[in-house]
Amino acid sequence: MIGVTVLGSTGSIGVSTLDVIARHDDRYRVVALSANSDADRMAAQCREFQPDYAVMADEAAAEALALQLQQTGLETEVLAGEEGLVKVASLAETDCVMAAIVGAAGLLPALAAARAGKRILLANKEALVVSGQIFMDAVRENGAVLLPVDSEHNAVFQCMPPGYSGDMLHDGVRRILLTASGGPFRSVDLAELEAVTPDQACAHPTWVMGRKISVDSATMMNKGLEVIEARWLFNAEPERIQVVIHPQSVIHSLVEYVDGSVLAQLGSPDMRTPIANALAWPERIAAGVNQLDLFEVARLDFEAPDFARFPCLRLAYEALERGGSASAVLNAANEVAVAAFLDGRLKFTAIAAVVEQTLNALPPAAADSLEQVLDADREARAFAGRLIN
Ligand code: NDP
Repeated sequence: MIGVTVLGSTGSIGVSTLDVIARHDDRYRVVALSANSDADRMAAQCREFQPDYAVMADEAAAEALALQLQQTGLETEVLAGEEGLVKVASLAETDCVMAAIVGAAGLLPALAAARAGKRILLANKEALVVSGQIFMDAVRENGAVLLPVDSEHNAVFQCMPPGYSGDMLHDGVRRILLTASGGPFRSVDLAELEAVTPDQACAHPTWVMGRKISVDSATMMNKGLEVIEARWLFNAEPERIQVVIHPQSVIHSLVEYVDGSVLAQLGSPDMRTPIANALAWPERIAAGVNQLDLFEVARLDFEAPDFARFPCLRLAYEALERGGSASAVLNAANEVAVAAFLDGRLKFTAIAAVVEQTLNALPPAAADSLEQVLDADREARAFAGRLIN
C-alpha cells in the first residue's frame, strides 16, 4: 500500500484527490490529512478515510476537531499549526505527499516533503513561485520526485521526452505552449472590469476551483504564476514559454520540438486526470473522469494573450526577468490583493495595480536561502497591505 498525506484535503484539489484515492483503496492508504479551519469537513474526511493524523493549521479548529473525533471514537491523532503540517509531510509511513494548500502557506510543508525525499504531487504552485531554486535544489539533493498536478504542467510533463534531462534544447524541445482559458473576462468590455464582484470573478467558464485561484484565473495572474512554475519545473527560459489562449480548456498544454512536431495533451477539464496521473505515474489508473467527446467539443480556438487586458500576466514575466526575490514579492502582493478583493475592500482592477506598485517599490533581493525569500514575502505583504489601507 502506498501511504499518502493530503495537505489541503478540504479544498477543491484535496477533495478531488480523495475521490481518486477512494476508487483505489487497494492501492493507496491515507496516512494524514490537513486543513486550515474547516473542522467539520475534516471530521467527515477522517470518518471516511481513518488517517493516522489530521492537522488543522488553526489551533482553535484543531481543538474543535479533536473533540468531534473523540465523540466518534476515532483514533486519528490531531495536530495543530505549521509544526504539524511539516511533521505529516515528512512521516516515514508517507510515500507520497499531495501539496494542495493554497498560497505561500503551503511552502514549508511542501519543502519538508522535498527534504524528506518524498514523491511530491505539486498543486500548490505558489510554493514553487516563492522559492524556485531552493525548492528544486531540495528535490534534487534529497532524491525526492516532483510531479506536477497543475493541469497545464501535468500536460507538459506528459508531452516532454521520456527521461527529460532538464535541458530543453539538448532534448530537442523548442517551446512550451501553456494554454489558458482566458477566464470569465476574456471578452468583457474593459470598462466593465472595474465593477466586477467576487462572485462574478469566481464564475470560471470551464473549471470549478477554490476562490483564490478562480480570481487569479480572472486576472490571468494564475497563468503568470504558471509561467514561473514552468520555468522551474522544466528549467525553461521565459522566452521559451508561450501562453496561448484556448477558451475550450480541452488542450491542457503543448510541447513543440525542433523538428516541428507539436505534442498536446487533451482531456475533459477535470482535475482528477492530472491528480491520477501524478499519483500513479508511471502507471495509469482510472480517475472517474468523463470521456472526452471530440464531436461534442467540435472546435478548438486559439488566441494570443492580451497584455493590456491582463496586466498581471505581464507582471509575472517582468518578475521572472528581475529575478531574485521578485517572484516572491509578486506572489505575496497578489495574495494580499486577492484576499482584499474577495473581502470587498479592493476593486478587481486594483489587484494588478497593487502588485505592480509593490514590485516597483521593493527592488529584488537575493533569493538563495529560505530566510531571504520569507523576508521578501513578509515585506511585500506588509507593503501591499499598507497600499490597500
Ligand atoms: P481551496 O481554497 O479550495 O483549498 C485550499 C486548502 O488549503 C483547504 O484545505 C484549506 O483549508 C487549506 N488552507 C488554506 N489556508 C491554509 C493555511 N494558511 N494553512 C494551511 N492550510 C490552509 O484551494 P484549491 O484546492 O483550489 O487550490 C489549492 C492549490 O492548488 C492552490 O495552490 C492552487 O493554485 C492549486 N491548483 C488548484 C486547481 C484547482 O482546480 N482548484 C488547479 C491547479 C492548481 P480550509 O478548507 O480549512 O480553509
